[in-house]
Amino acid sequence: MKVIKGGEYLIKEVSSDHIFITEEFNEEQRMMKESVIDFIDREVWPHKERFEKKDYAFTEEIMRKAGEMGFLGISIPVEYGGMGMGFVSTMLATDYMSAATGSLGTAYGAHTGIGTMPIYLYGTEEQKQKYLHDLTSGTKFGAYCLTEPGAGSDANSGKTTATLSKDGMHYLINGQKMWISNAGFAEIFIVFARIENDKNITAFIMEFDKNNPNGVTLGAEENKLGITSSSTRQVFFADTKIPVENMLSERGQGFKIALNSLNVGRIKLAAACLDASRRVIKESVVYANQRVQFKTPIAKFGAIQAKLAEMSMRAFVSDAGSYRAAKDIQNYIDDLLSKGKTHQEAELEAFSEYAIEAAILKVYGSETSQYVTDEGIQIFGGMGFSKDTPMEAAWRDARITRIYEGTNEINRLLTVGMLLKKAMNGTIDLITPAMEVGNSLVGIPSFDIPDYSERLSEEKAMIAKLKKAFLMIAGKAVQTYGMDLENHQQLVLAAAEVMIEIYMSESAILKADKLAKMTSDKEAEGQITMAKLSLYHSVNKVMDMGTEAIAYFAEGDEQRMLLMGLKRFTKYTNQPNPIAWRTNIAAKVIEANQYCF
Ligand SMILES: Cc1cc2nc3c(=O)[nH]c(=O)nc-3n(C[C@H](O)[C@H](O)[C@H](O)COP(=O)(O)OP(=O)(O)OC[C@H]3O[C@@H](n4cnc5c(N)ncnc54)[C@H](O)[C@@H]3O)c2cc1C
Repeated sequence: MKVIKGGEYLIKEVSSDHIFITEEFNEEQRMMKESVIDFIDREVWPHKERFEKKDYAFTEEIMRKAGEMGFLGISIPVEYGGMGMGFVSTMLATDYMSAATGSLGTAYGAHTGIGTMPIYLYGTEEQKQKYLHDLTSGTKFGAYCLTEPGAGSDANSGKTTATLSKDGMHYLINGQKMWISNAGFAEIFIVFARIENDKNITAFIMEFDKNNPNGVTLGAEENKLGITSSSTRQVFFADTKIPVENMLSERGQGFKIALNSLNVGRIKLAAACLDASRRVIKESVVYANQRVQFKTPIAKFGAIQAKLAEMSMRAFVSDAGSYRAAKDIQNYIDDLLSKGKTHQEAELEAFSEYAIEAAILKVYGSETSQYVTDEGIQIFGGMGFSKDTPMEAAWRDARITRIYEGTNEINRLLTVGMLLKKAMNGTIDLITPAMEVGNSLVGIPSFDIPDYSERLSEEKAMIAKLKKAFLMIAGKAVQTYGMDLENHQQLVLAAAEVMIEIYMSESAILKADKLAKMTSDKEAEGQITMAKLSLYHSVNKVMDMGTEAIAYFAEGDEQRMLLMGLKRFTKYTNQPNPIAWRTNIAAKVIEANQYCF
């Protein structure tokens, strides 16, 4: 089967055979899932309130136990102390490990992602042998020092310096980093600093021993809105000596390392939002079933049903997209390995290939967890506002996910930026399909009424039309502004929204379709309905964003023609019935008394 490469979903028809769904987990993955859930239910969930009390030691203790269970090196090869299980397994471990509290989710994500992956992806054999065993076993923890007071989103602008010592044996690091997760208990830090006047920063591995601090001082723990027991500190360097052999990759490669490590971090963050959202939905439906007002359980009210349905739908869509991309990445890695590439080379290439999807998933996943926790509070009413129920902490914890691993604004801009880069360097041919769509606008549309009796056939046809809408809008935007497009940020954001909606709703439709093939239409009814509901919102969003974009860059006859095209590409043959769909989805979660998809 032909591989759908990063970004190609916009120009190719993707079938359900192309995507992986969680119902296809193999035996080993099912066992991993069960053991992580069991770990969280046993060690974390019953002590949730400790995470609200700045109990950093408890977070560290759980991380050590996670190391003993093997959860810190799922996809790291066995020769470096990991389990060698592959990227889908990494995603599923992240998914369930992050379910109970954002404090642990952040500690786990920072350690296994940006704390460990730079060494795995860019380290020499000696560096990997020296550090990965400790990191995968949880004997030592990792942190990642990129952000500075003056360098946040503009990560390559950091002022921390690295100066070669006179004897040529060390780099002396001077500067200040801030917002460093795990700083309070990490012993292996990835530090980014600039050598002389280099254009790009350089990455180093720094060992940190509290008893021999080597010029390193830690700031106090930050007072944060959420993830209260995730250690977050400033890190100051004063002539901190790092041996020259601890440079990661080469001089000036740090920015590249930072970006590629973030590609992995982003998709894993999407996974980290999954079970957290499922659990919030479960808590919400249990509450809605038992809370009585007007002599009626509130779950019987349409207003509450609509919330439960929308929450479930978003969690389902996020799951569909996250595991679809995870398996695409895994397949890409396996293919490169079979062609003789090393693990390191294969993973680097694969994460970079699917960087667009990683950014999309980070945005959708984080906004889902924000939405779900917010509606969770609303379902709990006044009790949702109380620290005595789980909603309040979940809502505060969810907020950070829109900020770290690149803010959602930056990720949206990147989604379009990376696609255009692929188009410019010829990796993806956007021009031919965009021209075809442009030409079709002047033709006479077909007035035949298509046969949409087959399961999800109208939805699949709609996805194909939304892709045309994207090509029409993006094609015209590029034609109008060329390389200056990036200076029209609101237009880029509109295009990003369209890309996100298409990827996510397509994933949901293909997942529901595949599940129905594996079981039956009846058994997959909830998933099919959620896919339809997701698409309904996507169509409205594309219409909305598309109209804004067209109004901005076209006028007169051209504007009228493009708006007509947009209308054609967003027109349903059979009128959707979202109220009935929400009622149907809600009935299933209410009956199951939990998230049941
Ligand atoms: C709890 C926590 C943990 C963290 N952990 C780590 C860590 O372990 N290691 C690490 O290195 N960093 C970490 N960070 C830092 C985090 O990655 C940054 O906060 C984030 O990248 C944003 O940078 P900033 O805070 O400087 O915001 P800014 O870059 O100042 O952004 C402020 C606002 O401006 C917007 N903006 C900025 N530039 C643009 C642009 N070009 N176009 C449009 N909008 C723009 C942003 O989207 C945002 O809305 C953490 C942060 C927090 C809060």
